[in-house]
Amino acid sequence: MQELTHFINGEHVKGGSGRFADVFNPATGEVQARVPLASKQELDAIIAKAAEAQPKWAATNPQRRARVMMEFVRLLNRDMDKLAEALSREHGKTIPDARGDVQRGLEVAEFCIGAPHLLKGEYTDAAGPGIDMYSMRQALGVVAGITPFNFPAMIPMWKFCPAISCGNAFILKPSERDPSVPLMLGELMKEAGLPDGILQVVNGDKEAVDAILDNETVQAIGFVGSTPIAQYIYGRGCSNGKRVQCFGGAKNHMIVMPDADMDQAADALIGAGYGAAGERCMAISVAVPVGDATADALIERLIPRIEKLKVGPYTAGDDVDYGPLVTAAAKERALGLVESGIRQGAKLVVDGRNFNLQGYEDGFFMGAHLFDNVTTDMDIYRQEIFAPVLSQVRAKTYEEALGYAMDHEYGNGTAIFTRDGDTARDFANRINIGMVGINVPIPVPLAYHTFGGWKKSGFGDLNQHGPDSFRFYTRTKTVTSRWPSGMKEGGEFHFKAMD
Ligand code: NAD
Repeated sequence: MQELTHFINGEHVKGGSGRFADVFNPATGEVQARVPLASKQELDAIIAKAAEAQPKWAATNPQRRARVMMEFVRLLNRDMDKLAEALSREHGKTIPDARGDVQRGLEVAEFCIGAPHLLKGEYTDAAGPGIDMYSMRQALGVVAGITPFNFPAMIPMWKFCPAISCGNAFILKPSERDPSVPLMLGELMKEAGLPDGILQVVNGDKEAVDAILDNETVQAIGFVGSTPIAQYIYGRGCSNGKRVQCFGGAKNHMIVMPDADMDQAADALIGAGYGAAGERCMAISVAVPVGDATADALIERLIPRIEKLKVGPYTAGDDVDYGPLVTAAAKERALGLVESGIRQGAKLVVDGRNFNLQGYEDGFFMGAHLFDNVTTDMDIYRQEIFAPVLSQVRAKTYEEALGYAMDHEYGNGTAIFTRDGDTARDFANRINIGMVGINVPIPVPLAYHTFGGWKKSGFGDLNQHGPDSFRFYTRTKTVTSRWPSGMKEGGEFHFKAMD
């Protein structure tokens, strides 16, 4: 069986702790590799190496650092097919979806090519008599990222591209479920010209995470994953004096107004509810039609579309709509929640419980489910299911629908489908959720905007990627200087180079 490694100081390094986790092929259910789980001692040594390499990297001018990103983008495009295949093999998502995963990370690398501009400081001439004042943005030192299984290419790149472009060294602790693509990204960054030690990819579980949280050299931590772990990392990281931003789980509502184009709304719900088997933090898991006529019209359109969904392994071609869940445990939990929905009185309109894929009986595939008449006290409404399960909550009025989204503890994304600009504007202004779509079901901001949820979907002050990431991974130093004033004798009459 394949034994995976860490990628440390520019080389693949075998695990030294003696502890491993299984990496599955979710389509077949087979263990295809084992990944080493780093110990605290390994982490401490890896972080120390990063700290040694970082000052020279921070002193490299920002344009040269940006050129590494430029070359990295070229290499990602060169290796797109290889990366997508490795990603699908461990995660289970379809190849087009895996390419999207790489692409959305690549776009952040493209944004970071603008680092020289983004890192420019501020200057006040003559702030006082003979006094000038200027601010500069300096790298933090060694920073870390802890990332989830569901976007094993995009989210690591959201973190390390800006951090490294700012002059930091980065410790990436990716998900132990699908570690191969993060290791490949480490190799590509080296090939792009990154000095050894600046991107350390360390595999591990809670022990590795705790070692990062408690290591005094680590200045900042960016986390993406489930809310309980986000809260834990935020609390422990902050109390250890680090800068921390943590992005957690979601329960994204899509409000459908009576004036919406119902076919467009149904198509949007199919893609946003069932795409990637529902394993997206921006998936729509709750549809909230306003009025019974809207709810009935939606159900009538959703059922035939769900019945046509093609579920299969990534190897079955690009017309597969979604693949398996990531682990048997994830599938078991989701099916348990489906049972709870039935028990608690929701109406199961499409029942995917008996779904079976011939030849892939041991894979973690799950049929699509649709619930109607879901109420806010049910577990299927309160919890993130992270599976192909869509719940419909009926609202009588716009205000009631808005209230459902506002009152839910999660605040990652939301959408409204309507033809009325006044309603759309009102929704965008009043909703207490970080990312809003208007007739757009998965409103993931592009690389040059920022990504982040509110309420229990996000902890910390700044968002991910875009200009916020350059603020998160740098700190401001402000210099006030005074020089004796007056004209000097002995002027020079020829140009001199600045250096
Ligand atoms: P997870 O919380 O299980 O794991 C995330 C990371 O934390 C992994 O690297 C894992 O090794 C580590 N971890 C797990 N348990 C830990 C523990 N007890 N102590 C310390 N570290 C621990 O999340 P997941 O299942 O990999 O990812 C799915 C979750 O991520 C969903 O809740 C999804 O909504 C969320 N997510 C959020 C966003 C966002 O931007 N808000 C984006 C993608 C995914």
